[in-house]
Amino acid sequence: MDIHHRAEIISVGNELLRGEITDTNAGFLASQLPLLGIELNRMTTAGDDIRQLRETLERAQEKADIVLVTGGLGPTADDLTREAIAAVTGEEPTVDAALENNLRQLFGRMRQEMPPHNIKQAWLIPSAEALDNPLGTAPGWWVRKNGKTIAAMPGPPREMTIMWRNEVAPRLRKILSKQVILSRTFKTYGIPEAEVAEMVQSFFESENPSLGIYAHLDGIHLRFVARGNDAGQLLRNAGEQLDEIFGSRIWGRDDDSLEGLIGGWLGKTGLTLATIEDGTTGTIANLLSTTPGSARYYRGGLVTGSDATKIAFGVPPEVIATYGPVSPEVAGIMAAMIRERFSADIGLSTSGISQKSTVKGEPPGLTYVGVSDASGEKTWGHNFARFRDPSGQREAYGALFRLRERLIELKIA
Ligand code: ATP
Repeated sequence: MDIHHRAEIISVGNELLRGEITDTNAGFLASQLPLLGIELNRMTTAGDDIRQLRETLERAQEKADIVLVTGGLGPTADDLTREAIAAVTGEEPTVDAALENNLRQLFGRMRQEMPPHNIKQAWLIPSAEALDNPLGTAPGWWVRKNGKTIAAMPGPPREMTIMWRNEVAPRLRKILSKQVILSRTFKTYGIPEAEVAEMVQSFFESENPSLGIYAHLDGIHLRFVARGNDAGQLLRNAGEQLDEIFGSRIWGRDDDSLEGLIGGWLGKTGLTLATIEDGTTGTIANLLSTTPGSARYYRGGLVTGSDATKIAFGVPPEVIATYGPVSPEVAGIMAAMIRERFSADIGLSTSGISQKSTVKGEPPGLTYVGVSDASGEKTWGHNFARFRDPSGQREAYGALFRLRERLIELKIA
């Protein structure tokens, strides 16, 4: 029998209601539910008010068998999620000895006395099981009562996502009907969203697999979700059709990241990379250096704030004067210079104009990318001005895609 599961998401916190923080938790959870075959009924934001929270929980349980709550698990008097769940289930919270012990140890490791009000974080009700929080003091609650499930997770997004992945999603999978549900994401680059949507138009009519299309900094992602015993085959067929439609413009799948793929190729061939950025605010250095294992191939990077820095590191002033600081010539020299200065096999550079200014008649948003390797320098111009944010993140991804292109050309990929 195909049992249909319905969920509601409740985000808790006055800060959310006052617009002081943006609710990213609900969006994340909403994106995860289709992967489990759970239909989302409604998302609600509730303030730190016991009556409101209780009513919101009761109303959610009328229509949904799964309620996901984030926030309100802190130690203070206005963190009321536990109290509200206890009220809805009609159960009394008591201090759980094992949780209290963990909490005291945690404070001990931080060389702090545990404040008395933190004891709330060791509470449980009879229907609740504690969910481990490796990044904070607030354990989550997994509550099963009368065929209904409530999962309460902490508000800080890092704590919430790890608890979702490690604790909540696996438990939900266990209680869901045995239907097979599989998903696969295909990542494209270099084609505008509207065009991608047109290219995959025929898939939108299909319910199984269903298709979602999402715009990200690293391109347009296409996510298929397939159900039933032939779910694997349905995904393989969809993948083959996408390969025919997009060919090499699909650069990755599922959890692939651009910086991870590039790092994998460099790591395998033993080649090293150095970067120099102007206009991308260190985004490339950040992406590369936060990739696990990158110390093996990433020599490091420079973020230049001015032409003087470029000159100090070896870009001839006359080249800047002749061609302008944002030019293919300067991008090429920057890439070559950083490659040499950092003793790397490959140098990658960006040189861009902010959205507001023009330089030497060049339009705002123009960015040049340079790649330098043993066979010389190659440069490209981009203009993503329509999307430009001051951090230049899209331009940073644009540069990494050029590096990828060059690595493929050089048969390093
Ligand atoms: P803690 O014990 O760490 O305080 P908590 O469960 O009590 O956890 P809250 O106090 O509700 O969580 O929120 C803590 C912080 O988490 C907020 O100040 C905010 O920065 C972030 N946060 C909470 N809810 C959300 C949300 N829905 N989306 C994004 N960030 C959130």
